[in-house]
Amino acid sequence: MQKRIIKKTGDEISALGFGAMRLPTKNGRADEKRATEQIRYAIDHGVNYIDTAIAYMNEPLVGRALGEGYREKVKIATKLPPWNVNKAEDMENIFKVQLENFNTHYFDYYMLHGLNHPSWEKMLKLEALEFLDKLKTSGKIINAGFSFHGDKELFKEIVDAYDWDFCMIQYNYLDEENQAGTEGLEYAAEKGLGIIIMEPFRGGNLTKNIPSEVEDIWNQAEIKRTPAEWALRWILNHPEVTCVLSGMNEEEHIEENLRIAEESLPNSLKSEELELVEKVRDKYRDLMKIGCTGCQYCMPCPAGVDIARCFEFYDSTHIFGNKRQNQLQYALGLGVFHEGAYASKCIKCGKCEKHCPQDLPIMDLLEDVSGDMEGILTKVVPPLFKFYLAINGMIMGRKANKINKGDK
Ligand code: SF4
Ligand code: SF4
Repeated sequence: MQKRIIKKTGDEISALGFGAMRLPTKNGRADEKRATEQIRYAIDHGVNYIDTAIAYMNEPLVGRALGEGYREKVKIATKLPPWNVNKAEDMENIFKVQLENFNTHYFDYYMLHGLNHPSWEKMLKLEALEFLDKLKTSGKIINAGFSFHGDKELFKEIVDAYDWDFCMIQYNYLDEENQAGTEGLEYAAEKGLGIIIMEPFRGGNLTKNIPSEVEDIWNQAEIKRTPAEWALRWILNHPEVTCVLSGMNEEEHIEENLRIAEESLPNSLKSEELELVEKVRDKYRDLMKIGCTGCQYCMPCPAGVDIARCFEFYDSTHIFGNKRQNQLQYALGLGVFHEGAYASKCIKCGKCEKHCPQDLPIMDLLEDVSGDMEGILTKVVPPLFKFYLAINGMIMGRKANKINKGDK
């Protein structure tokens, strides 16, 4: 397996990481036997980085899969969920439960999960950076980082705010301008940070329901590859990228991804291959209803609307067609993790339109987004999720109490 070195730390990471967000299921539950076999197979074939989170609700399962000597062969990456943290001691308690989940005494990579404006402010207020310092000094974590879903400016602000070892960003050939984007990737790389890539297939959209116009372009390639292979090769072509995470829950995908990661060296794509990917990206952009580039010049919005992400969800729905899934992600991404940054929050102040280089009629378009993406899910998902958080918080509090009693 190809390994890439993090400049700042010298740590060697496999170019392919195992993303444990979507493990295989059976009868509606995680299929532990199959997931364990898959995780161990990937590790046996050179994967040395496994990423999970409390929010994926599978830390204990992944912890068990790393029994029988697998823990020592792999670097565990997991995350502190800001939405579960309301006071400083919550961080201590969550961390203790996480160590117990993995039956380990340290994490190799530990992140503040999914930072955006509200969660970053909350983490600063609760002194999460000091908490990370403490964990590092005591050897309970080796590397401190953050995963990110905000805008470019915030990304740079966060990179500059702490002595991070690594970060995790959403990146693929359709998201060069979105979120941290290429600018953020290069910025973090200049500082020597390890860069872990999530969502290489944009939630699966780049590999399923491929529009015929896009398929026609892929068919022009001299070497025939699946859309998934093109997407992974394009990411790993960037020397700045340390590791790409793929949520692999089919054995054949693991096999395919292992091969691709072995072959996809930095700068290995030929110019005509890069041009082909550009053509595909341009075609997707043509197919977008709104055509927002995600440049974020229109933000911040005084009413808290995440304009670029509203358009991203809307366009995804109209290109890829999976409306229900996109509506759910809209409700989760904007309603839960971004404190209700929905399109319908627009108060029509007009500030954003003055800054849009594409001259988009943002206020009218947000009305379309709200009509199409909002409804029962945006009403129901945030309170349900809050309820889940409250229960989860209680369970973790009890577990932490038990651990604390055991410590004494
Ligand atoms: S017009 Fe709407 S979206 Fe634009 S800045 Fe004002 S409130 Fe925000
Ligand atoms: S709406 Fe315009 S300014 Fe805002 S992100 Fe999209 S293209 Fe950029």
